[in-house]
Amino acid sequence: MGAFAAVAVPAPLPALTYAVPAALDELVQPGCRVRVPLGPRKLVGVVIARSDRPPEGIDSVKEILECLDVEPVLPAALLELGGFISEYYLAPIGDTLKAMLPSSLPPWGERRITLTNAGAVAPPRDDGEAVVREALLASPRLRLAELQRQLGRADLAVIVEKMRVDGRVSVEETDRRGIRYVKAVELKPGDAAEQDERVGRSAKGRAVLAHLRELGRPATLGELSKAVGCGPGVMRRLVGLGLLRQFTQPERLSLARHRLATTERPEIILRPDQQDSLDALEAALGADRYQAFLLRGMTGSGKTEVYFRLVATALEAGRGAILLVPEIALVPALARGARARFGDQLAILHSNLSTSERHQEWERIRRGEARVVLGPRSAIFAPLTHLGVVVVDEEHDSAYKQDVVPRYNGRDLALVRARANRAVAVLVSATPSMESRHNVDSGKLDALTLTRRAGGAKLPESVLVDLRAEDVVRQPGEVVLSSILKNEITRALEADDQIILLRNRRGYAPTLLCRACGENFECPECGVSHTVHRRDRILECHHCGHTLPIPDRCPQCDAEALEPIGAGTERVEERFKELYPGVAVEVLDADVSKRPGGAAAVLERFGSGATQVLIGTQMVAKGHHFPRVALAAVLHADSYLGFPDFRAVERTYALLTQLAGRAGRGERPGRVVVQTYHPEHYAIRAALDHDDVAYAREETRFRRSFLYPPFARLVQVVARHKERARAEAAI
Ligand code: ADP
Ligand code: ZN
Repeated sequence: MGAFAAVAVPAPLPALTYAVPAALDELVQPGCRVRVPLGPRKLVGVVIARSDRPPEGIDSVKEILECLDVEPVLPAALLELGGFISEYYLAPIGDTLKAMLPSSLPPWGERRITLTNAGAVAPPRDDGEAVVREALLASPRLRLAELQRQLGRADLAVIVEKMRVDGRVSVEETDRRGIRYVKAVELKPGDAAEQDERVGRSAKGRAVLAHLRELGRPATLGELSKAVGCGPGVMRRLVGLGLLRQFTQPERLSLARHRLATTERPEIILRPDQQDSLDALEAALGADRYQAFLLRGMTGSGKTEVYFRLVATALEAGRGAILLVPEIALVPALARGARARFGDQLAILHSNLSTSERHQEWERIRRGEARVVLGPRSAIFAPLTHLGVVVVDEEHDSAYKQDVVPRYNGRDLALVRARANRAVAVLVSATPSMESRHNVDSGKLDALTLTRRAGGAKLPESVLVDLRAEDVVRQPGEVVLSSILKNEITRALEADDQIILLRNRRGYAPTLLCRACGENFECPECGVSHTVHRRDRILECHHCGHTLPIPDRCPQCDAEALEPIGAGTERVEERFKELYPGVAVEVLDADVSKRPGGAAAVLERFGSGATQVLIGTQMVAKGHHFPRVALAAVLHADSYLGFPDFRAVERTYALLTQLAGRAGRGERPGRVVVQTYHPEHYAIRAALDHDDVAYAREETRFRRSFLYPPFARLVQVVARHKERARAEAAI
């Protein structure tokens, strides 16, 4: 290898060249993290390549100070993806690679290696194992970095990994805060007598099963050996027999969250359209080449079932899968379904994982223990090898865009990564983006369409409420619940059905207005008015997060004439409770997500029927499956249409269509009520008539005539400087 290395440092710079000191020669490989000097600072960067000489014209080169990893943390495929992102999205390579790794991933050298009894007894199989064994016999619980220093072997990581897999050494994942990881097991569901029979004559084995049954939760190996007095051999045998499932987790973490879903899955027989789609996807997977699909079909048509099966096929073929969703907290049912189907093979990258849990999941993926990854857009960087399938569910969702450096679109990267891995990419949506529709027309995506709702559920009946004609009391701040909608709500409540109400604005009221002088509390930073949050007693700018306490009287004119104008979810809830006292109602929006339990808890309560009515922002319209919802209503369908964004119509259409998909997914047809001031708008009409063709035709016409994407490319260039003139000159 060359004497120099190109290192991507987290600074707005291209990769920099450093000299590799002889001592680190074997260690410094592309994809490893190294500590390097930059001016007065010491930064951690990622090695991109080794070379024989520094670039032309550079004569003094500094040395790499330290190598943090004994094996690359970014495999070649991901380094390549990082290079693509950096170039395509104009992001510095160092920032890009940093964003692709979990934050503050501890140096690998920090792990401690211990020889197991088996490793001490068994004769080493080669010279590598022999030296490692000897070093570990001399000093137990050795840090990997120390072992590396003593032995100086480049293949150390490989040797240790092989010994770990065969149970000759154990590797302790300690992170900087000293979290220890423990092994635990849980009983798989099944008939007790049958399980005992399979254990055979081993009394210890039966005692373990009995103890786990009594506990009714998983238990750590330490716990079990104390309670039953069994050794690791007994446990290994029970795992081998398929009676127990074994997993590793941080010591302090509650074991309950690993519980398997015990509900049996009903046997599902695919409908012909599902089978045809699956056949096409599996054929592409079998051909071992890149192919990208758009899987369409309305909510509840069985798309998830199709791609889950494709993933299962990939696993059988020894390949892995990445499943991207806009936000996991909003799809607890999908996560549960994936857990039930893929069990231990699944890694879920929640946004609320602690740092060490995230490292643990990432490490399971890197080692190939978890081969199905479910996560938000950043999960596209999961270090899977042998990738076979990449799924992007709700591909039209704007949450796939990351709007800080490195800016990228997770959906588009899914295609890039799939291509590099000769994998099958599946974009999934009931309301595909205009870009994906266009890519179908131009042959970049193959369209697969599911035409029916699973279980024969009927499309909901829609009711359009023209707010211009509706006799609403136009008192400022009144929550608009038309008489038609109130009738529908009363009917649904009487039938004991569930209801979803969508109001796409969080907080109590969008504006606080002084009736005396017109003061409207604009944000000093952004110039937009602060939103009133009654519960938290603050005014908050939804643009930048700036907050103020809610004043009693106007700070400008001192009048006691402050009045909240308009209504957000909080106020809709207040009004609903006045009108329908005693009904169990909850709110779901970004504010609720931040509270303990968050969105998932609200969704679980609604799913179980503990709450009857859910009021919320567009979060209530995402891919949930609530068979008992009979009424879904949007209070103000125009709220998106007013946005100065060429995708405003697309969003409105997607939102209304998704919302309609929420109603009547069970046996009974549901009802959808849409209140609007623009009843003639094509997006609203098409969503209510379930006429996707009409929508696509009009929207295509609009995009084409104004040269908006997908018929042109649009890039926003921002020049910022303290001195206006310099920004102007630069741009
Ligand atoms: P989508 O992803 O299109 O919203 P899902 O795949 O989640 O739809 O399916 C909705 C429901 O219908 C799920 O409960 C699923 O188990 C069920 N389902 C899917 N396909 C079938 C089928 N062929 N027969 C019966 N039920 C099905
Ligand atoms: Zn602001």
